[in-house]
Amino acid sequence: MSDFPPVFSGCRYAVVGLGKAGLPAARALLSMGADVLTWDDSEAAREAAVAAGLAVGEPPMAALDALVLSPGIPHVLPRVHPLAAAAKEAGVPILTDAELLYVAVRRAGSRARFAGITGTNGKSTTTALLAHILEVAGVPVAAGANLGTAALALPLLPDEGVYVLEMSSYMLERIATLRFDAAIMLNLSPDHLDRHGDMTGYAAAKRAIFARQEAADTAIVGIDDALSRDLAAGLESAPARLVRVSGSGSADVGARGSLLADAAGTIADLATAKALPGAHNAQNAAAAAAAALALGVPREAIACAIASYPGLAHRQEVVANAGGVAFVNDSKATNADSAARALGCYEKLVWIAGGQAKAGGIDSLAEYFPRVALALLIGRDSPLLAKTLAAHNVPYREVGTLERAVAEAWEAAKGGLASVVLLSPACASWDQFTGFDQRGDRFRALARAIAEKA
Ligand code: ADP
Repeated sequence: MSDFPPVFSGCRYAVVGLGKAGLPAARALLSMGADVLTWDDSEAAREAAVAAGLAVGEPPMAALDALVLSPGIPHVLPRVHPLAAAAKEAGVPILTDAELLYVAVRRAGSRARFAGITGTNGKSTTTALLAHILEVAGVPVAAGANLGTAALALPLLPDEGVYVLEMSSYMLERIATLRFDAAIMLNLSPDHLDRHGDMTGYAAAKRAIFARQEAADTAIVGIDDALSRDLAAGLESAPARLVRVSGSGSADVGARGSLLADAAGTIADLATAKALPGAHNAQNAAAAAAAALALGVPREAIACAIASYPGLAHRQEVVANAGGVAFVNDSKATNADSAARALGCYEKLVWIAGGQAKAGGIDSLAEYFPRVALALLIGRDSPLLAKTLAAHNVPYREVGTLERAVAEAWEAAKGGLASVVLLSPACASWDQFTGFDQRGDRFRALARAIAEKA
């Protein structure tokens, strides 16, 4: 972070939760001149912080300018963390690193603009796609926050630059002054209700992405689900320009067939966008295009960039082809809603699913079951998933591990059962893996080994 001047000299921050975002945040704040004390409930994490040259200790609240709390640590539900409680008691603001990035950029004198992306599903894709569009258009861009690079590890951009920040609902609860020039709310479905209490709380957290927007700003809202449509209606009287987007119908920016269009005509042909299959990705493309237009990107650059977008790992990523069978890694689909998007893209498939199921299991996926020639179930909650499949007469086997699932899927597919093997687990991965990325990496390696032999 050497490119930021010491914009936080004289400020005192405590950084609590020293994971993917916390450690870089602490280092960046230090390099920007702040006094930084770090803390993590895990001793191993504290030792790593000491080894990295950071001061470690339980923060004296009253002396702090802010508590930077890792997004993974709750400050309200299900149980308030003691340090968050102490901060509230002492009237110390609880902030997320993206807020401090915004403050740092402004204090450094840059007028770089900010684009924020939230929603239940599609945040990472839309963030990466918008960043790609801006890059293709020659705009200095830095993308990150919830996706990839932690917010405070992003570089200082010049006035004409754009920060593209993926914002989780947890992060949105902890912004104070950050104002997005273009803000996107893609969709809302039940997720993380343990932290937000109920859908009203969850929707309120998401709506915070539009807070403080002014007349020159743009509020972009997906209207493909009822809750988001309500949210859009509620924004009609807000000062920002409202742009409704849809992946499957008419809207201010919407996809009709494969054509993405607005009132001025066609923006891009999604049939040319190999890394953006399905109506869900059309929604992501519509939102990214709307934001790019709002940020002044020419239409031709948007069309070009949508066609050349390379895609992200673990999101319907085609990882191998063997004997006419495509292996598709959709490990990021950790809930039924995400898995539905992938299942809807293939006519006949061998489906690998399972892990730690979310509330409701896979009941909501019944309409896709006729596409499933065979389901191979892994992980802790495979009995629960098996029950649903049995009730719908879907052929399935409980195979336990991903290794067995991939081997059996290949045997079935090469025998002519289907031309696609899809890992789209509809479940979290924590029972067998360190995260969805490790699960997807393993699937990729297994599939590639098969392809090499075939
Ligand atoms: P997030 O960052 O919000 O988790 P990703 O872009 O990583 O979203 O996509 C995760 C999964 O969610 C994808 O694999 C896909 O199955 C599904 N998905 C992506 N975009 C959408 C969308 N707009 N609506 C619904 N589901 C989506």
